[in-house]
Amino acid sequence: MSDLSSPISPSRPFHATAALRHLAQRRRLAPLRARLPEPEHIPQECWQRFAAAHAEALTLSAAELGEANARWLQAEELIAPGLPPAGEARLPFVFVRAINLELSYSCNLACSHCLQTPLRPQGQPYWLDPSLVRSLLEQAVELDLLGMGLNVTGGETFAAGSPLLEVIEIAAGLGLPVRANTNAWWGLQQNIRLGERLIADDEALGRCCSAAAWAAWP
Ligand code: SF4
Repeated sequence: MSDLSSPISPSRPFHATAALRHLAQRRRLAPLRARLPEPEHIPQECWQRFAAAHAEALTLSAAELGEANARWLQAEELIAPGLPPAGEARLPFVFVRAINLELSYSCNLACSHCLQTPLRPQGQPYWLDPSLVRSLLEQAVELDLLGMGLNVTGGETFAAGSPLLEVIEIAAGLGLPVRANTNAWWGLQQNIRLGERLIADDEALGRCCSAAAWAAWP
């Protein structure tokens, strides 16, 4: 049995930061009030902390929750003992409606005004792993951070080795609209390399991106 004497953070362990854990707690625990075995054991003040508009400590002790409630929440995997408290999370996320995902800092141009020049690695381009992108997007959907969809940006995302088409498919599969930033080097070009594909020309490139989105749209 879990040690119920230690503070309990209502959370799932896969959220990467305290701020995201905090947001997940608020979204997932508040509707559970009516389902708890002993809701009367949780003081009103605790529920006010759940419902607070801005982040504050949501760490509850077993004494505050009541042991039956704590066991039920743990059995539902809605809380886990021993996680760091979310009290340092102070960022309100209500304004987040879309996410900018930088697939790579690499680029085929070298604009003098580029803010990413100091971040750009030398040598082979480095790309975000699509499985990491999927995990990130699934969490962001759960936390309702993607109401306006996903912006994919770089560096330059339309490049050999880029996972852009796969990312479009992943996002579309989650029902998300996707926008991609590009410096448009491929305009009026032929034999364009995107990811592992060789695409005939710029019009075919547009069709390719649309097809990736529509093929995966739920
Ligand atoms: S195209 Fe964009 S990412 Fe590439 S060097 Fe210019 S400003 Fe930077």
